[in-house]
Amino acid sequence: MKLLENKTALITGAARGIGRCIAQLFADEGANVIITDLRESESSVELVNELRAKGVRCDFLAADAASTERAMEVADWVAKNYGRLDVLVNNAGITRDKLILRMTADDWNAVVETNLRSVFNYTKAFASMMLKQRAGSIINISSIVGLIGNAGQANYSAAKAGIVGFTRSMTKELGSRGIRCNAIAPGFIETPMTKQLSEETRQTWVENIPLHRVGTDKDVARVALFLASDLSGYVSGQVIACDGGLML
Ligand code: NDP
Repeated sequence: MKLLENKTALITGAARGIGRCIAQLFADEGANVIITDLRESESSVELVNELRAKGVRCDFLAADAASTERAMEVADWVAKNYGRLDVLVNNAGITRDKLILRMTADDWNAVVETNLRSVFNYTKAFASMMLKQRAGSIINISSIVGLIGNAGQANYSAAKAGIVGFTRSMTKELGSRGIRCNAIAPGFIETPMTKQLSEETRQTWVENIPLHRVGTDKDVARVALFLASDLSGYVSGQVIACDGGLML
């Protein structure tokens, strides 16, 4: 039996990068997958077709993860069309890196809304469904910079640190009804988000990573698979770093 057979998962911001890889791995393990992203694109259409070809149900919904109203509509749609949600992966995220003297309120708001408010939006939207089911796994994608900070990323690291507090609060608030909530803190992962960084920056990171390589989307997706599956049935409130040992 596959690890996620008969489970339904929703992943935000999954048209590309880490979210896309999580969607692929979950489908390989038998999950029905609902994918959201800002807008429909060639990449999202291709992903839906790819996942359906694996024999699972898959749908795409265009949804700005920062919109509380849209999150409620998405939850209503999932209730009508799938009837339940077993796994929620709050993955959507953006960066707008600048040193504090140059960072504008817009840079701050955009990053906090997309990375942190989105986690509130989708957890709130799906909480009542999961409470009724008396089961569910919520996986929030944080970052090691939410734990250790990073120059030029005050907005991003604050949002990612916020996710950690939120995750632990949800663990305490929802745990008695069988709902688990955990966070993953990726280190340097090669995705379209990090492709913007210079080769020099990349090399500096690699030199400081004990495993001496950058991470892949699959490295993170495998941690998400563990947290989504019953293998982690007694794991809640954790922040699992997936960083090649960088944080030590
Ligand atoms: P990518 O930029 O490759 O992918 C992010 C996805 O989120 C894109 O498909 C993007 O859509 C979508 N997205 C952006 N804004 C929104 C929004 N408002 N609503 C819905 N979807 C949105 O990033 P990664 O895959 O690298 O990152 C995934 C998560 O992992 C993020 O939360 C990120 O912060 C976190 N992370 C990544 C690390 C890394 O090294 N890559 C390290 C630590 C954490 P579009 O293409 O339309 O913009």
